[in-house]
Amino acid sequence: MMARISSLRFLPMAIATVPLTLALLLLALCLLPAQPAYIAYNTTPSIVPGKINVHLVPHSHDDVGWLKTVDQYYVGANNSIRGACVQNVLDSVISALLDDKNRKFIYVEVAFFQRWWRQQSDAMKIKVKELVDSGQLEFINGGMCMHDEATPHYIDLIDQTTLGHQFIKKEFGQIPRVGWQIDPFGHSAVQAYFLGAELGFDSLFFARIDYQDRAKRLKDKTLEVIWRGSKSLGSSSQIFTGIFPRHYDPPDGFVFEINDVSPPVQDDVLLFDYNVQERVDDFVAAALAQANVTRTNHIMWLMGTDFRYQYANSWFRQMDKFIHYVNQDGRVHALYSTPTIYTDAKYTANEEWPLKFDDFFPYADHPNAYWTGYFTSRPAFKGYVRAMSAYFLAARQLEFFKGRTSSGPNTDALADALAIAQHHDAVSGTQRQHVAADYALRISIGYLEAEKLVASTLSFLADSKVGMGEKKSTTNFQQCPLLNISHCPPSEAALQNGKRLVIVIYNPLGWQRNNVVRIPVSDENLIVQDSGGKIIDSQLLPVSNATLKLRSFYTKAYLGASPTESVKYWLVFSASVPSLGFSTYTVSAATQTGPHSFMSTVSSSRESPDATIEVGQGSLKLVYTADAGKLTQYVNTRNQVRANAEQSYSYYSGNDGTDKDPQASGAYVFRPNMTYPIKSDQKAPLTVIRGPLLDEVHEEINSWISQVTRIYKEKEHAEVEFTIGPIPIDDGIGKEVTTKITTAMQTNATFYTDSNGRDFIKRVRDFRTDWDLEVHQPVAGNYYPINLGTYVEDGETELSLLVDRAVGGSSLVDGQIELMLHRRMTHDDIRGVGEILNETVCVQNKCEGLTIQGKFYLRIDPKGAGARWRRTFGQEIYSPLLLAFSEEDGTSWSESHLTTFSAIDPSYSLPGNVALITLQELEDGRVLLRLAHLYEIGEDEEYSGTASVELKRLFSNRTIVKVTETSLSANQERAEMEKRRLNWKAEGSSQEPEVKRGGPVDPAKLVVELIPMEVRTFIIELSYLQKHSS
Ligand SMILES: [Zn+2]
Repeated sequence: MMARISSLRFLPMAIATVPLTLALLLLALCLLPAQPAYIAYNTTPSIVPGKINVHLVPHSHDDVGWLKTVDQYYVGANNSIRGACVQNVLDSVISALLDDKNRKFIYVEVAFFQRWWRQQSDAMKIKVKELVDSGQLEFINGGMCMHDEATPHYIDLIDQTTLGHQFIKKEFGQIPRVGWQIDPFGHSAVQAYFLGAELGFDSLFFARIDYQDRAKRLKDKTLEVIWRGSKSLGSSSQIFTGIFPRHYDPPDGFVFEINDVSPPVQDDVLLFDYNVQERVDDFVAAALAQANVTRTNHIMWLMGTDFRYQYANSWFRQMDKFIHYVNQDGRVHALYSTPTIYTDAKYTANEEWPLKFDDFFPYADHPNAYWTGYFTSRPAFKGYVRAMSAYFLAARQLEFFKGRTSSGPNTDALADALAIAQHHDAVSGTQRQHVAADYALRISIGYLEAEKLVASTLSFLADSKVGMGEKKSTTNFQQCPLLNISHCPPSEAALQNGKRLVIVIYNPLGWQRNNVVRIPVSDENLIVQDSGGKIIDSQLLPVSNATLKLRSFYTKAYLGASPTESVKYWLVFSASVPSLGFSTYTVSAATQTGPHSFMSTVSSSRESPDATIEVGQGSLKLVYTADAGKLTQYVNTRNQVRANAEQSYSYYSGNDGTDKDPQASGAYVFRPNMTYPIKSDQKAPLTVIRGPLLDEVHEEINSWISQVTRIYKEKEHAEVEFTIGPIPIDDGIGKEVTTKITTAMQTNATFYTDSNGRDFIKRVRDFRTDWDLEVHQPVAGNYYPINLGTYVEDGETELSLLVDRAVGGSSLVDGQIELMLHRRMTHDDIRGVGEILNETVCVQNKCEGLTIQGKFYLRIDPKGAGARWRRTFGQEIYSPLLLAFSEEDGTSWSESHLTTFSAIDPSYSLPGNVALITLQELEDGRVLLRLAHLYEIGEDEEYSGTASVELKRLFSNRTIVKVTETSLSANQERAEMEKRRLNWKAEGSSQEPEVKRGGPVDPAKLVVELIPMEVRTFIIELSYLQKHSS
């Protein structure tokens, strides 16, 4: 086919000036050989009913850190690793869009867009706003990053999405409508219903699902479904979900970055290799192939992939031509589109779509490649993210109590760092080492600022004692981020000459709680007094050798110097703290004759006169054998639960990829060769430490694994603190370390794991609900992500484990739960990161494998009673008490300070099934409040009912002026969102009962109702009853 000549401008002047009639001119033109000429490609957007419409979606997948740091990707630094510069992407895309109003582009990662936006001139900002208003440039997903779905906590997912959505709303007035999780390695139920439907999204798209699942869906045309992720919220929280037929790149032969090899459309007849018809045929063939596996006449092509569009014209030039010639050809119809336009087209087709429940874990792209290793990869970083997430939640509450200031310290830097850390190559642990360090550095910078805010707020509140008149000075508070490895300078300082240590303990939960607090001290005769000055029970315990070793090495690694003090003991006492408030405890030297802290008794299992050792001062007892030092029994004397229980450690040897299938175990993939029990032949005897508040059992499992099991008198669970590392790899074999709890329970191949800390999902060993599973990896293929916990049950009891960070886990044998706690590899798993997951820590050029310390919690309940602990105590694990230290400076602390504080009506407490997951003052002074029902339907007789929260009593010292319910990311009114939302039809679900959500909030009563698993988000305007004197 010839190029159409559409203008005389390029004809030689001689011809144009010859005085011929128009008819003659045209005749002459027809007789001329083909001329090089401008071609105005017709790319006018339209949908043609009755034809296959190919929606071309120009996009760039820009990882917010992976092989390079987020800033290196943005500016195009470190290009020897990878030539990627997001600044080039945005510069060139904007210019290409301004060149032609028919072109479209979607942008996803707000962390990058923000970096670009703040560098633009006002004139450019106006132009870009016009592009957004006209729909040429559309924000989809719209979080700071495209978050991981296996390893983040749901509160972090909400926060990072809210931050991005607020930016888009503020700068552009836009509300994203589409979820775009194209790259994460498996997909969670919480993503579908929570970070999808509850955001007001009309659809969700992604690429990565299990290869067997994809094969079946291609055959059945079920790649597009209605996904109901929550059994509690059902159809009220469903979302249209599209899975790409292959990956998030274009069909083969349609990739057009300057270095890509696809043949460009060559439509200049004066040049060689003219190929228009050939390329149109390729296009039609690829479109028909995709239409074959897709319902309706609409198919989507992802025109782009990782860090593409650094020279956008290279893509748009080709797409202009394809749209023009394909539509001239007429067999299929092509258009510039976005996932939103595609979604609306799907909706208009008025189809009924197949239903999908639960989630898309685990993900395998190959028979021996289950991406279940990253559930545990970089466990220290995962723990750090979780701890900082909780600190951020508490710090925002405190920021609200004092009042946000733009000049003083705030939580913004921590918010930003945590948001970026949710990226699918961040908390997932699948980035390069220097990038992991960059994420951690950003969080630590954010923490330091938030720490100042927390300290200043606590002094503001503690110093606000009424009737104190003029303040002498502001109280100075210190905090101890290295408390987990027993480093805390203020508590270690010797308490001589009447000096008293003051500990202000803040509780971020909406209910009063009693928790045992532990601080390192150097003195032994101490007393602890509560807020009222009453001496309370306290206990001293020796610090374990493992902790002392960590303390010495890691304080040097993190702070540059080893601690000067030598800490002798942990001082523990039980703190009682009001909801959203604090209590004050003081520690001072005891007098010679007066009461003092109880010195724990220490004994070795070898000294035991009996064959067994029973540990535990309260209802819970653990029984160990004296000779082998093995746990044998779990007994709860209150509820008569008695179970045989054992605990062991093992490791999997990572496959090195040298057999027929070159797939090694690595940062993403878990491919075990063999499992080896970590033997206890040379095992040291148990050390048993007893006292009035808790008992501890110290075990040296081998030279690089030790653990402390704690049984608190007032609690009915065991807390296990493990120290693992450096994992030896001098034999060249990567190791993935697990612990197993084994009981005799008959659990019928079934276990439960949580989805991002929310819904528990039923897992059946070697089984998938959606297809007949072919088992190639009986271990890795049964691993699931765990953020809150996991449990198994039989007819009588439930065994639950809760965790303090994201880990992978499974139940590979009935009655047994296994958690993978640490991994150190010797090979790369060829999924792109190109680096071996081998974390080391160095002090003065001396490097050793990373040692981690973490906790899990264990409890056995009568059947039906376990949820109460998993949910309520699970919230306490997520939100630990926050400790701040000061010193009494001569005058009595309680005379000059407020010793207890609660931000809410002191006679009020949130119901035990509701958590306050956000309390934050926004920049405009309004308050963002999120309340979460913690239980699912049917989980607990009492707590699985509708819960009510009285806002008036929650904000007891202020007047509520206005309450507006919003979407989960607070970027639109909930009522508007409900009205706008597309109402998809699912196959065969017409007879299902409608889920009745919590009703509207009556402005007079101000009571919020929540049904199981419901989270409700409000923007509240308050006026202060007593104006704070900030
Ligand atoms: Zn990615």
